[in-house]
Amino acid sequence: MDIESVISLVRGNINRLKPYSTARDEYKGVLGIFLDANENPFPNGYNRYPDPQQTLLKEKLSSIKSIPVENIFVGNGSDEAIDLCIRIFCEPRIDNIVTIAPTYGMYSVAAAINDIEVREVQLGNDFALPADALLAAIDTNTKLMFICSPNNPTGNSFPIEQLRWILEYFNGVVVVDEAYVDFSSQNSMLSMLDEYDNLIVLQTLSKAYGLAALRLGIAFAHKDIIGLFAKVKYPYNINLAGMERAMELLERDIRSEIDVIIEERRRVSHELESLKCVVKVYPSDANFLLVKVKDASSIYNRLIREQIIVRDRSHVKGCEGTLRITIGTPQENDRLLDILKSF
Ligand code: PMP
Repeated sequence: MDIESVISLVRGNINRLKPYSTARDEYKGVLGIFLDANENPFPNGYNRYPDPQQTLLKEKLSSIKSIPVENIFVGNGSDEAIDLCIRIFCEPRIDNIVTIAPTYGMYSVAAAINDIEVREVQLGNDFALPADALLAAIDTNTKLMFICSPNNPTGNSFPIEQLRWILEYFNGVVVVDEAYVDFSSQNSMLSMLDEYDNLIVLQTLSKAYGLAALRLGIAFAHKDIIGLFAKVKYPYNINLAGMERAMELLERDIRSEIDVIIEERRRVSHELESLKCVVKVYPSDANFLLVKVKDASSIYNRLIREQIIVRDRSHVKGCEGTLRITIGTPQENDRLLDILKSF
């Protein structure tokens, strides 16, 4: 799909939208007497509005990810990017999105908020991607397909070849959510942005980068799609304190933390498999394990009594009897395993 065809999918009102132009969009200098934005003039570090285009942060992300600044959108978590995708492309009560099930819940919630139908296609055996069924679920009003890889809560990545196939056959936008890609043995789709104008890749600083509290998510896409994100977002969607802390904390090397998490994932998975209360540990490319247990609710409640909180997924279709357990520090994981051994 070429970019003209992608832009033709955009809602008419969004294409026609004249965005709010902030005072700081119009003046590019950093020095001067700023009497334009009704701020308090007395300095305290935060009395001025922040850069609405987050130029410094995007330059930093650009160098980390080797993607040009013009292909980067920064949002208030990737949840903001998910909502913007829907608001840009989907006409309420007319258009629909297609996604897999089980998967991350915000695609459906964001669609519901925008009054957009969600068509969910159940994953296959061992949570395989049902590529044919996904394409069979689309119609002329399907604007977006959300595919989370590695998938939450199942933990598996989907083969790149299948994702390519969908990108080629679907006449709509494919949003690949790579929130957990830094823990995966499979490569990111970022290197394919030049090949597919209908690809949006979502990543986040909330997982491997350890900055969940700062609320910073990223969308990578063709520059014209990024232009639409910039048009529709709140003018100052990222605050200065968050940007400054992110710039500092992005200096540190996260490789050693990721290595520990991946090694712990292997160890915890192995130890869980030998426990009586565990039926199956699903293979994971993420920083969590989906674990089928004998009695999910009593294990869940026992862990709560021990002040260990895991995610009960036992009522999610396709995940019956499972708990989703995030990989903690080695000490935290030991404590979890000790309690589970007593079951
Ligand atoms: N995508 C997936 C698959 C997630 O699991 C999550 C958070 N749990 C998000 C996106 C949202 O991340 P953020 O903190 O960037 O909003």
